[in-house]
Amino acid sequence: MKDTVKQILKQYGSDRNRLMDILIDIQEQLGYIPKDAIDLLAANLGMSQVDVEQTISFYHFFSTKPRGKYAIYLNDSAVARMFGYDSVKRTFESEAGIKFGQVSDDGLIGLFNTACMGMSDQEPAAIINNKVFTRLTPYRVREIVKHMREGKAVEELMNESYGDGKNQLPSLRSIVSSNVRRKGMILGDDYEMGTVTKTRLTKMSPEAVIAEMKHSHIRGRGGAGFPTGLKWEFCRRSKGDKRYVICNADEGEPGTFKDRVILTEKPELVFEGMAVAGYAIGSDEGILYLRYEYRYMKDYLNEVLENMRKQNLLGKEIAGIEGFDFDIRIQYGAGAYVCGEESALLESLEGKRGEPRDKPPFPVEKGYLGMPTIVNNVETFGTAVKIVLNGGEWFTQFGTEDSTGTKILSISGDCMFPGVYEVDWGFNVEDMLDMVGAWEVQAVQVGGPSGTLIGSKEFHRTLGYSDLSTGGSMIIFGPQRNLLKDVVLNFMHFFIEESCGSCSTCRNMTQVMTNKLTKILNGKGVKSDLDDLQSWAKTLQASRCGLGQTAANPIVSSLKNFRHLYEALLQKDKDFDQGFDMEASVQASCNYVGRVPNFNHH
Ligand code: SF4
Repeated sequence: MKDTVKQILKQYGSDRNRLMDILIDIQEQLGYIPKDAIDLLAANLGMSQVDVEQTISFYHFFSTKPRGKYAIYLNDSAVARMFGYDSVKRTFESEAGIKFGQVSDDGLIGLFNTACMGMSDQEPAAIINNKVFTRLTPYRVREIVKHMREGKAVEELMNESYGDGKNQLPSLRSIVSSNVRRKGMILGDDYEMGTVTKTRLTKMSPEAVIAEMKHSHIRGRGGAGFPTGLKWEFCRRSKGDKRYVICNADEGEPGTFKDRVILTEKPELVFEGMAVAGYAIGSDEGILYLRYEYRYMKDYLNEVLENMRKQNLLGKEIAGIEGFDFDIRIQYGAGAYVCGEESALLESLEGKRGEPRDKPPFPVEKGYLGMPTIVNNVETFGTAVKIVLNGGEWFTQFGTEDSTGTKILSISGDCMFPGVYEVDWGFNVEDMLDMVGAWEVQAVQVGGPSGTLIGSKEFHRTLGYSDLSTGGSMIIFGPQRNLLKDVVLNFMHFFIEESCGSCSTCRNMTQVMTNKLTKILNGKGVKSDLDDLQSWAKTLQASRCGLGQTAANPIVSSLKNFRHLYEALLQKDKDFDQGFDMEASVQASCNYVGRVPNFNHH
């Protein structure tokens, strides 16, 4: 064990900021992070053991106990449950002879649930020793477990091999389908890598690049919608010895998978966009923060980066431009939805728990390692290349006045053609449903659990920042779905699990509201319960970061648009009751099942 850990430490120069990489390597090589390894890390990185343990305890894919020779993480999202999660789960349990959350006595198989892993267009899906398995069926599960008992390597359990390390794209596509259904300026095939770097940056100043970005009126594609050109300008003007470009590829919103597809189909566009940003803000270092669920892309993406270096599109004096040095490395998360929030992501990049920072200061002034930093989404960087290629004015002809350009949607659920669609902003929901072959629709979840659940009366609405804003997740529910039990309750459990635990509002009120929802689902609700849910939502909305501020949305938006479903479950003869004991519920919420809060800080 010691030799393995020392070797890993050597690789990262015993840099405590690389703790995430170090822990990931230990977890992968030893199957868990033993106590002795923690002691060794603390001694070599100049940290306390508690600090190392705090980081480990925050992330879903780290464990201080062995998780089995084959660690199986089955996706337990609302969409997975629509397409056979229950029967796949039961089959894993009966074949392995254990329940989820357990490891078999012989240490061969460990079964664990995980939140949405970005495969909503091909559920049920699981991660087994960092490899992705999609479209699971009970038959396939039986085969997989049989092969595990025969001692086969994980690659052999898959339908296709992972390739030989040279041009891995075909094998990558055979493992996970890209399902690109509609192409536009990002997903189209009309761009030759390096054109912008070689023909535009060589003639433009950094200020001119920022001016084009501002002129395009592009807003960040991650969901928050901050003007990208302005962000780049603020960062360029901020004082610092060094500046950083961070690509946020931590898409964890249930139902979202567009970044997975962009990184599979157009990674060079994203990397070139990061280089363009580096040129604009005066940075020589970029980091792609990639969610651990996409670790199966590691060799492929490194191959793309290497190819770009060979073509002098990364490295020193890129395209012969004096002083333009820029390179990119990939950093992985380890399973924490909140790390999609930019300041939590920065904490994670620095090897800490992914707890959101107080703002201000904003990352453009004080970001990664305290230096000016821009954090942009995968799609934003890809779009930036097209803006600099064609000009900001060209870009404004797509979309609407307040939402220019195109948007890549991840569409899943009850439709004929789930997948990725690039559309102009301003597209309406009705057209989208026709486009994807959704004939009978009860509801659409726009923007994932933190977004809005809408019914047919609102299908005329359009996608855009002034109407239905979305980071890209669209989940369609047919009439056969139980919206409150299978969707709203599932989303609330997701927020409980994913809260970082810092704020008492977020830590407790998600649980208290879920208890109340469960009471209603059990037929014990009364009219005043609905009023309570409405008013408690306001308390939750006062939380520190976007996760807590939007965690009540599944209940609030379903109460607004599907109130009849709640009312149908209420006891008819009672408006008020004493049956719900708030104090007991808050007390029960202290049996909090999410992350253990960092009591060092609170
Ligand atoms: Fe953490 Fe929730 Fe507070 Fe955000 S709102 S900082 S996720 S506890």
